[in-house]
Amino acid sequence: MSIYDELGIRPVINASATLTRLGGSIMPPEVLEAMLEASKHFVNLDDLQRAIGEKLAELTRNEAAYVATGAAAGLVLATAACVAGSDPAAIARLPDTAGLKNEVIVHKSHRNGYDHAVRQVGVKLVEIGMALNTYPWELERAINERTAAVFWFQGAMSGHGDLPLEQVIEIASRHNVPVIVDAAAQLPPVENLWRFTQMGAALAVFSGGKDLRGPQASGLVVGRKDLIDAMRVNGSPNHSIGRPMKVGKEEMAGLLAAVKRYLALDHEGRASQDEETVAGWCGELNKLPGIHAERSFPNEAGQPLPRAKVVIDAQRAGLSCDEVVKRLEAGSPSIMVARAGADGLFLNPMTLEEGEDEVVLARLQAILKQA
Ligand SMILES: *Cc1c(COP(=O)(O)O)cnc(C)c1O
Repeated sequence: MSIYDELGIRPVINASATLTRLGGSIMPPEVLEAMLEASKHFVNLDDLQRAIGEKLAELTRNEAAYVATGAAAGLVLATAACVAGSDPAAIARLPDTAGLKNEVIVHKSHRNGYDHAVRQVGVKLVEIGMALNTYPWELERAINERTAAVFWFQGAMSGHGDLPLEQVIEIASRHNVPVIVDAAAQLPPVENLWRFTQMGAALAVFSGGKDLRGPQASGLVVGRKDLIDAMRVNGSPNHSIGRPMKVGKEEMAGLLAAVKRYLALDHEGRASQDEETVAGWCGELNKLPGIHAERSFPNEAGQPLPRAKVVIDAQRAGLSCDEVVKRLEAGSPSIMVARAGADGLFLNPMTLEEGEDEVVLARLQAILKQA
């Protein structure tokens, strides 16, 4: 009997995305083995964080690296590093930022739920631009002596009339203001591990528990050594704003194993396997009345991987998309998919385990044939 049986929790087939609320991702054996090994001994956590950071920096072609409890925790510590640096008095006082650099500039169009992580350090977000356009002078004018950082959220929210990241980095750097990139879900491509920092971003923040398939409670921050050193002081085990976001030795070891695995992965092979899955799904589903399935690319986070977009004509299919999604969720195992508007859904091969693509197709066919 599994722990989920014991608790009466139905396992989920995740055909949606690397969603934290579904458990993020599944750790491969090499990550679990590294965590198990690390769990067997006491160690000096500061020394371990430093040694693993050096390894991660080398592997990701960066100056320095840090393991946080998630990308969101990485955003907190990156903000704290820009506001308080390594000054013990300022660190002890956070989130009281009176008298410190306590403004963070962000595109209005980038505002999203994760900016709470930045705001909890006690900074004020200074918005630039409008929903559909932003001008370079708006960034120039927003920068002043209280500016701690410019945050850039890469993903579904970026690219809609915002300034190009290159230009943001150019303007901010001229004023000695660090640019922090939230790249939590920007893997693949694997090159993003060094792309943002090579462009001149001071730090880039990745989730350890999404496509890296590291521990759920892990995040990777890479970039400038002075800022990473300041993050260390602002983080656990020190008494600081980061203390509640404690990183365990197991998470550190697991994330290192995950990054090693990710760098060695056959990314082209993985992408073409996903293409095959999507083509197979579309071919089969298009045989059914009232169903139109097609390849959709890139996915919702902008990752260069395909999904199948399935549009359901309720009249001809005999079932509305709402009802199909409800039945997919209600079955056992439950199948979770993302929505594509009122009459559509996405099937995502990215988070499926071996053979689950067939389970998803068979269930969808059964539901539609029943209708
Ligand atoms: C997922 C995500 C985060 C949070 O990452 P965690 O590792 O779950 O803390 C932050 N920002 C963006 C844009 C994300 O997609």
